[in-house]
Amino acid sequence: MEAELAAFKDPTLARGLIDSIGKLAPESATLMEVCGTHTVAIARNGIRNLMPAGIRLASGPGCPVCVTSNRDIDTVIALARVENVTIATFGDMTRVPGSTSSLLKEQAAGRSVEIVYSPLDALRLAQEHPEREIVFVGVGFETTTPLVAMAIKRARDAGLKNFTVFGAHKNMPGALEAIINDPQLKLDALILPGHVSTIIGAAPYQFLAEKYGIPGVITGFEPVDVLQGIAMIMRQLHEGRAEIEIAYARGVMPEGNPVALAAIDEVFETCTALWRGLGEIPGSGYRIREEFAEFDAVRRFDPPIEPTQDPKGCRCGDVLRGIMAPNECPLFRKVCTPENPVGPCMVSSEGSCAAYFRYY
Ligand code: SF4
Repeated sequence: MEAELAAFKDPTLARGLIDSIGKLAPESATLMEVCGTHTVAIARNGIRNLMPAGIRLASGPGCPVCVTSNRDIDTVIALARVENVTIATFGDMTRVPGSTSSLLKEQAAGRSVEIVYSPLDALRLAQEHPEREIVFVGVGFETTTPLVAMAIKRARDAGLKNFTVFGAHKNMPGALEAIINDPQLKLDALILPGHVSTIIGAAPYQFLAEKYGIPGVITGFEPVDVLQGIAMIMRQLHEGRAEIEIAYARGVMPEGNPVALAAIDEVFETCTALWRGLGEIPGSGYRIREEFAEFDAVRRFDPPIEPTQDPKGCRCGDVLRGIMAPNECPLFRKVCTPENPVGPCMVSSEGSCAAYFRYY
């Protein structure tokens, strides 16, 4: 297994793919990687600098923490201020600045905030602390949504009354359609996310090729994976084709994961979601179904939320739309750093600004 994985870092294979990209590349093209893990892989392996002249790799809206709106961050902070509530969340979320506070600041002010690594950890916390109200912060795409659905179902089956979820889950295809229709950005192809596609498969992206004539390749996260995905895109552009292809066959089935999709569908229904930078996109979010309403933290606690304002001077919205590179933001590295982040794209380990800070 180790030897197989090493092949995805093999310099000879990588060199061959770089040569193919060079031969097939058009004079100019903009490719967007829509997944935060791809953003980091491209930056860490110097892949942006290996592209032929005229080929631009733009980062997109695939970092779950980054696309969470300030309104949602403010709502989580309002929930943290409810008496007897413990917020259970992934670590990155604690540092994201809301309008006037962050979960880290709330914790310093005495509110209860626990870092967990999965929704099932939050469930355990609820079982171990029946005297507390545990609110899990559910953000992210279809990679995390099935786990949250499972946690809610387990809570119901166990009769747990002190476990709820703040749900801000999103789906990727809705955002991609908004990006493609953005008049400030002309995209030629998409590097599609491996992890999300493990759950949803390839079918939800077909509209990119069929309706917009934009090729897409689903790929993994090792250097050879990413280069192979780009090479397959270049071949499509070279041959004038627009299809959705899978370069990550070891992780993605065309039909996705039916068990995970069924879990999502049982607990959640799609809704309009508010994205940082992209605004409201119909059908791009998941909300907890009425049958599971008792596990919806906002419906249970209805906390007062302060008026929302975006961080002053932060251009995360433009970075997430791919119309601005992080180092073009006037605050990048001067005011905004991972130690002192102004916006979520600098907080999250998958954020474009953090990746640029670390690797460029
Ligand atoms: Fe926002 Fe900082 Fe990124 Fe600028 S560098 S867009 S302020 S996160």
